[in-house]
Amino acid sequence: MATLRFCPHCGANGLSLGIPAGDTHERTFCGGCGHVHYVNPKVITGCIVEADGKYLLCQRAIPPRPGTWTLPAGFMESGETTEEGALRELWEEAGVRAEIISPYSIFSVPRISEVYIIFRAMALEVTDAFGPETAARQFFAPADIPWDSIYYPAIRQILERYIQERETGTYGIYMGNDDTGRIHFMR
Ligand SMILES: [Zn+2]
Repeated sequence: MATLRFCPHCGANGLSLGIPAGDTHERTFCGGCGHVHYVNPKVITGCIVEADGKYLLCQRAIPPRPGTWTLPAGFMESGETTEEGALRELWEEAGVRAEIISPYSIFSVPRISEVYIIFRAMALEVTDAFGPETAARQFFAPADIPWDSIYYPAIRQILERYIQERETGTYGIYMGNDDTGRIHFMR
């Protein structure tokens, strides 16, 4: 949890950690003005982008795990929707514009307070204008995907299922989390 020294509301020095009256969780709060500093999970949005039966992956240029391949995704900004966030990250990290088809996976990592929302999308325009976080960007046929160099096991799992489902033409929606490792499948 981020530590604050001064109250962001009144500037007083001397924040306390405890459960405020009527609350259920431990919070950092100001004994002076009563301001409660809420720390809530961060949302990461991204997409599986398809073009002609190939799938877009970005090779990370920055830590953690530079050199590994991942789906274009990133932290939502305030004031945008999850879909807008996913398409913005896609443009920034891959130089690709796409159309979102549907939600595909909601994956929680409570240990680090993060939630990943992944959409299915179809590529509309591919440019070379990708950002410095990306070392390379490529659409891979399933057989050519660098499976041993995927950024994170859950990313590999999502991609494997998606490719299986594309063959049958029926897509599910997944909920999962990093605590149990279980993935729930719904059709
Ligand atoms: Zn205060």
